[in-house]
Amino acid sequence: MRIRVQKYGGTSVADLECMQKVREKVLKALDMGYKVVVVLSAMSGETNRLIEMAGRWSKRPDLCEMDVLLATGEQTSIALFSMLLKECGVKARSMLGFQVPIQTDKSFGKARILDIDADKLKAVLDKYDVLVVAGFQGCDSEKRITTLGRGGSDTSAVALAAALNAEDCEIYTDVAGVYTTDPGVCPQARKITKIAYEEMLEMASMGAKVLQIRSVEFAKKYNVPIHVRSTFSDGPGTLVVQEDKSMESAMVSGVAYDKDQARITLVEVFDEPGVAAMIFEPISRANIVVDMIVQNPSREGKTDMTFTVPKGNTEETLKILKRIKSDIGASGILHDADVAKVSVIGVGMRNHSGVAAIAFSALKNENINIMIISTSEIKISCLIEEKYTELAVRTLHEAFGLDK
Ligand code: ADP
Ligand code: ASP
Ligand code: MG
Repeated sequence: MRIRVQKYGGTSVADLECMQKVREKVLKALDMGYKVVVVLSAMSGETNRLIEMAGRWSKRPDLCEMDVLLATGEQTSIALFSMLLKECGVKARSMLGFQVPIQTDKSFGKARILDIDADKLKAVLDKYDVLVVAGFQGCDSEKRITTLGRGGSDTSAVALAAALNAEDCEIYTDVAGVYTTDPGVCPQARKITKIAYEEMLEMASMGAKVLQIRSVEFAKKYNVPIHVRSTFSDGPGTLVVQEDKSMESAMVSGVAYDKDQARITLVEVFDEPGVAAMIFEPISRANIVVDMIVQNPSREGKTDMTFTVPKGNTEETLKILKRIKSDIGASGILHDADVAKVSVIGVGMRNHSGVAAIAFSALKNENINIMIISTSEIKISCLIEEKYTELAVRTLHEAFGLDK
């Protein structure tokens, strides 16, 4: 059985006309002899609408019920799309996460997929030509509905492709592939033909929302080739695959940005063993993901500690820090939510020197101040004032010749 998994995002299923375009793509795959597993997102704007609605009902919406609510977005799209397929005689049916079942852990709102019963799913595929599966959702061991975090349908699709041993996983969206940077911010962005899993993972982690981070982790782990392409035009998109030699020739492959950052500084904490642990352990226990961290000694026996957290976690982080303030000897706690992180990414960095210097001087030329720098083998990130994000992205894009 030749199986193809195709995922269509929110803008691709936004209305009847869009869904008719999606149907054409699915029919084409059927013509090519594939059985098709179609993974759908909620219609564009629907997940946000539900989140906003929950906020009116409750100040702190219950996490389990929130997942039950959000999962309805995808339920609507798979039902409507299955109707469209059946209307033209395709043997199709819709499937919700718990019907597959897509088994997850119990982290409501950001659940991880643990298992997909491939044999059961293949048995259903024997009877149908197209299965229309709700993305973004699964169920825990007690059959409670869970969701996989924003953009989670990408991960549903890759996980299904891995479980079913599909030939590849196509991610259809509103852009023609993965670009050198967000084409919405930089019109000079170019489509990348082929990108390594590791680079794509950094791009996604640094804010390029075209693929959810976990979908790339999954693809890398199970060696699933991803093809990111457009719902609204034909032609090849971007292949996300294992790294090969050809990818190293470019110094930098892409630029990403993340505005969901807030900076927190603890002024003059004790400079002694155990203080960092005292700060970050309770933050981690609260499930808050700390990103960049710098520590610099201020005066004898004291050091400043600066780090970033997602904007939405600022209040909770401050609350934790106020509790431990005297234990760690801090003389003050500062915070700033008007910051953003810009990053340049590329496996070619391993073999090229001077990448950081080019990035820093490009930002200097635009008079953009860098607050924190963090690096990995294939990435350099700078925290800057949020209002300069777009300018910084375009400047870095040009400085590395990505527009050519
Ligand atoms: P979908 O609803 O199909 O899942 P998303 O909105 O999640 O689509 O992701 C597609 C969007 O990602 C694009 O419209 C684009 O603005 C944004 N994006 C950010 N960085 C990139 C990039 N490097 N390449 C392509 N798109 C990007
Ligand atoms: N509907 C969910 C979201 O908006 C999941 C997805 O689209 O991938 O985040
Ligand atoms: Mg998405």
